[in-house]
Amino acid sequence: MESKLLEGKKIQQWMDEFPLLANITKPEEVFWTNLDYRKKNGPQPLTVEDINDAANRLERFASYMMKVFPETAEMKGIIESPLIPIPRMKNTMEQKYDLSIPGGLLLKCDSHLPISGSIKARGGIYEVLKHAEELAIEQGIITYSSDYAFLDNEKCKELFSKHSIAVGSTGNLGLSIGIMSAQLGFQVTVHMSSDAKQWKKDVLRSKGVKVIEYQSDYSKAVEEGRKQALLDPACYFIDDENSSNLFLGYAVAASRLRRQLEEMNIKVDEEHPLFVYLPCGVGGGPGGITFGLKEEFGEHVHCFFAEPTHSPCFLIGQLTGLQDKFSVQDFGLDNKTDADGLAVGRASSFALKIVSHLLSGCYTIEDERLYSFLHDLANTENVFLEPSALAGFFGPIQLMRQSGGQNYLKDHKLKEKMNKAHHIIWGTGGSMVPKEVMEEYYRKGTE
Ligand SMILES: *Cc1c(COP(=O)(O)O)cnc(C)c1O
Repeated sequence: MESKLLEGKKIQQWMDEFPLLANITKPEEVFWTNLDYRKKNGPQPLTVEDINDAANRLERFASYMMKVFPETAEMKGIIESPLIPIPRMKNTMEQKYDLSIPGGLLLKCDSHLPISGSIKARGGIYEVLKHAEELAIEQGIITYSSDYAFLDNEKCKELFSKHSIAVGSTGNLGLSIGIMSAQLGFQVTVHMSSDAKQWKKDVLRSKGVKVIEYQSDYSKAVEEGRKQALLDPACYFIDDENSSNLFLGYAVAASRLRRQLEEMNIKVDEEHPLFVYLPCGVGGGPGGITFGLKEEFGEHVHCFFAEPTHSPCFLIGQLTGLQDKFSVQDFGLDNKTDADGLAVGRASSFALKIVSHLLSGCYTIEDERLYSFLHDLANTENVFLEPSALAGFFGPIQLMRQSGGQNYLKDHKLKEKMNKAHHIIWGTGGSMVPKEVMEEYYRKGTE
């Protein structure tokens, strides 16, 4: 580790330059606020028109989705999740941590998104649909004004079966892309990292998806997937580390969240700040949502990313400016965490570049604490999430009790407004976890 150079500097030089790295690499739980927040950024690769374009594409597919996934009928073929108040959980958090969390606490239940039960049902499914639309338009099967429900027939499936889709995944992205691609008729291969849970591989294989397993971590699975896809011109590779399509699929969540908040009579403005806590792996999911939220709410929304103490790739990338030019292993961390959705050692530079001036801060959380939140949330609100999805819960606690959090509130003149604030915890996955696996998680939270 000592001799390796990152962007021309030894690890020790990075450690000297950024003292927080000593805590991060120990690894300790840290709470960090972003000094670049609200500084001017250069021209952005994506705009609000791109988000609208993505939202419109999902609308075009709504009739198809309703037809092939009847569980989406209730939402008229739109994949969206509930936003619910969780006052009992808030109470428990305040008692356990002996502090007050001013404002309302809400849970965004992406855990209960239809089809694949995680936040990946946004980005992953969107990118597959976009690819399918491009092929179908190119072949003259549909026009943009067709009823896309037509795509659910044998002839279209046969066309798609001549094409393949590949992706590298720690689990949930593979689930979304695998299920959606197989439904359309594509041949689909998911390259799974060693962290991927057995039940996720089983679900995919049961749907006819080819699953290739690796002994190594996520970066390797992506690299192999990319390599194999390059060999086959009919193969489309969904690149979690660089995809603007995935990112836009996530970003669509923001305008829909605005509508949900309006329906609940929750204001977001100068006097009513909104805090959002998002579990982060490569950063595409939380990055896309942050990008969208900033378009909707500007400086009135404050977004914090949460990572496991063993996999803080986004935090280190943002803190040091190294972006994706390192992996957490370079800093002596093992990237081993029960939060499989967040077990990522190298961040997406695409996401980092876009959110570097939009992000309020990052923090890390230990696995043990994830289980404790899992247990408490189940007991208080009867909602069951997978470990990754609980990382958000530590956010409001750290914001209120860490000096970095208090300084952030002071610097942005938020202290007096906190009673009128809302905190949204983004619950990113869990409804598809098999019962016996969930019982085991729950038990770990009691230990
Ligand atoms: C993938 C995932 C995330 C994070 O998304 P990234 O795009 O990898 O940052 C968070 N929670 C769960 C459950 C996930 O599967």
